[in-house]
Formats: sequence, C-alpha cells, structure tokens
Amino acid sequence: MLTPAMIGNPSQLVSLDAESGPRGSLRPLFGLDAEALAACMVEAGEPGWRGTQLAEAIYRQRVKDLGEITTLSKALRRRLVESGWEVRRPGIVSVFTSVDGTERYLVRGQDEQTVEAVWMPEGDGGETGDGSEDGQPEMPRAPSFRRFSGERVGDHKSPASGNRQETSASLPENAAKSWSRATICVSSQVGCAVNCQFCLTAKLGFQRNLSAGEIAGQVVSVLDRHGVEVGRDRINLVFMGMGEPFLNYDNFMAAVRLLVDEVGISPQRMTVSTSGIVPGIERFAREPDAVRPKLAISLNAPTDAVRGEVMPINRKWPIEAVVQAVRAVPLRARERVTFEYVLLGGVTDRPEHAAEVARLVRGTGLPAKVNLIAWNPGPGIDYTMPSAEAVEEFQRRLADAGVPVYLRRPRGRDIFAACGQLKRTVDK
Ligand code: SF4
Repeated sequence: MLTPAMIGNPSQLVSLDAESGPRGSLRPLFGLDAEALAACMVEAGEPGWRGTQLAEAIYRQRVKDLGEITTLSKALRRRLVESGWEVRRPGIVSVFTSVDGTERYLVRGQDEQTVEAVWMPEGDGGETGDGSEDGQPEMPRAPSFRRFSGERVGDHKSPASGNRQETSASLPENAAKSWSRATICVSSQVGCAVNCQFCLTAKLGFQRNLSAGEIAGQVVSVLDRHGVEVGRDRINLVFMGMGEPFLNYDNFMAAVRLLVDEVGISPQRMTVSTSGIVPGIERFAREPDAVRPKLAISLNAPTDAVRGEVMPINRKWPIEAVVQAVRAVPLRARERVTFEYVLLGGVTDRPEHAAEVARLVRGTGLPAKVNLIAWNPGPGIDYTMPSAEAVEEFQRRLADAGVPVYLRRPRGRDIFAACGQLKRTVDK
C-alpha cells in the first residue's frame, strides 16, 4: 500500500483549505450516515426525513457549508449552526501534479495531521480487481514495462521539472475533462503498524485511525475537484493508501457504506487491499454483496520464509491462513481476488519466485489474478528496483503458467505518488 510521500521542499507547502482553523470543536455533519443525519434533524425539532436533504446536499451536491443548503430554511440552518453543527468535510490542503497527470493530495481531517490521496486518470493498469476494465490485455504478448533509467535506492530526487504544485484546491471552472476514467487511491490510517519492509508509510509507525468521514471525505473532495459525475463517469476507488484498512475495520466499512449508500459509488468499483489480517478478512467475508468491495491481498513474496522477512505480519498470519480466510469470501460473477506482488530486486523477482507464485496462486483454487508492481524506491529503505528484464520475465512466466497477470504502471513517480512511495510530507 501507499503512504504520504515526501517532496523536495516542504517549506513550499501552502495551506489551501479555507477551513483550516482548529478542528474538532464543532460537530461535523460529514461522516454521519442517513440515520444519524435524521437524528440530527429531530434534535433540531424537524422531521427525520429532512436528514435525507442533508445527505443529498453533503454527499451528492458536495456542499461544504451549511449556508449553501438551500433545501433547508435559513432559520433551520441558523439553528444548526447555533447548535455547533458544521459540514466540515476533510479538505485538500496541497496538490502535487505529475507530468503523467497523476495528482497527489494532502488531505486534512479532524486534526492537524494530513493523509495522502492520489488521483490517477485512466486508472493504474490493474485496479479493478477482475481485470475486465483495466485497460490492459490480460496476458500481454509483448509486455510493455517501461525502463526506469537505472534509479537506485538513495537516488530519490526532488520532483522533476514539468510537475507542479498548485495553489488552489479547486480546478478552474472551465477546466476541460481530460480523462475518460480514473482511479482514486485513499488512506485509512495515519501511518501504519504493519511494518512492511519496503513501504515508506511503515516508517511513520502507527499514529491513529481515520474516521469514516475522513476516509470518505478524501474521496468526495477528489470527486469535487474533478467535477466527477458519479453514475456517469467511470471511477474506481482503491483503499491502498496509508494504513491497513482491516486494522481500522469499523471505520473503513462505515466509509464504504457512506460511499455506496450516500455518494452512490458501486462497491464493485472499489478494491480494498489488505496485508493479510485474517480476522479482518473473516469479517469482510460476512459483509453483504451490496457493500462489499473487491478484495486484494498484498502477497509480495512466494513463500512464508521470504514473506516473513519482507512482511513481518506473515509470522502471525502465514500465507495459508490468509488464503483459507479468503476462500470464505463470496465472490460475485466474474469477480476475482487480486494478489498484489511488489517486485524487489534480487529478493522477490527471480524466475524461481515466479514459478512458486504461479503454483501458489493456482493452488488456492480461487478465481484470481496477479498485479505486479515494480518496487518504487524510497529513502532509508534498503531494497533495489527490479530490472526491466526481471519484471518482463516474471510476468511472462506467470502468464505462461496460465495465471492472469497485469503490470501496474508506475504513476506519479516524479511527485512520489507511486505505490509504496506515499509518506506524510509534512508534519501538519
Ligand atoms: S500494510 Fe504494509 S504496505 Fe500497507 S501501509 Fe502498512 S506497512 Fe505499508
């Protein structure tokens, strides 16, 4: 999973959000579900059904201020404000734009801490979970891995020229839509306790869980920025940012329910990635189809021995325990479980590893696919990138073994938005 990234010069960061005063003293409406919004209205002396008007305004029309909710009378809006209610949607405080169109955001929720979200126009080449709409052929005859110019660990550079940091959280009103589909990657925790050795978020340690409103708020803020018409535009969500969603299970699922029920995004357009938290997978298996995203398992190694080194969580829940839990997740027609596999040079990218992964994935008996991700370097992480040849060979071997395999394109590497590169850029 990803993590808030670092940039060359944090002093350049400019706070963009008009709502950047002390947070937490008011009563945020954003994050409440329909039932809680109805209760809020009843408390204000109104019929409960007026909660639906609130939900419509906050989640569909994306209003950021109670004063803009014209379906409610001025007197009612005043009463709500006097009672301490505010919309308080998490706000984008900084935007970094890559030469490839990817945008990385710092988003601030209830307190001064920020998390990162990423917008990837045209998707990232493997995000849908079933491989049906990711824009790549399932088993490419000629793998299209792009050579990475020999960058090594420690070669981290400032964002390349051509990218930019914006001074406004909103796009210009007349900005043309330059994408036909997009993927939004969001965070579920500030920092992470799982300690995957290749991941920059792990360097932060665990700081706190995000609330449901803070998770859903990242999505709504990004939808708002790009003028996305939910239901018309093709949008995928991936819960693959900072944090382990299944270690913040209740808030993660509450966010999913908000996004499904109130924002209107299908759970089949969402994929949650877990490092293999077995009790979380077991709970996930009991969620109804109506709110259950697709599942991705962050595998990253061919055996327990190697995985235990790369992902210490494997010592608690080894591969077979994870697979056993995944088998209980009911899949929809054509749905596949994704196994994500970060290729670490010399550690997990050898031909024999590919053979073992193929055996492992086929042995699960699950409808599955593999997403390959060439590791992105980060400061203080002692791995090397895989060579282009190793990636190509790995992909070819999986394909030849009959395993559906995709190579996720590196996105936004110049702004540190690529997978595994997210790490909080500023302390606020
Ligand atoms: S689960 Fe692992 S990869 Fe994901 S954010 Fe945590 S440490 Fe990073």
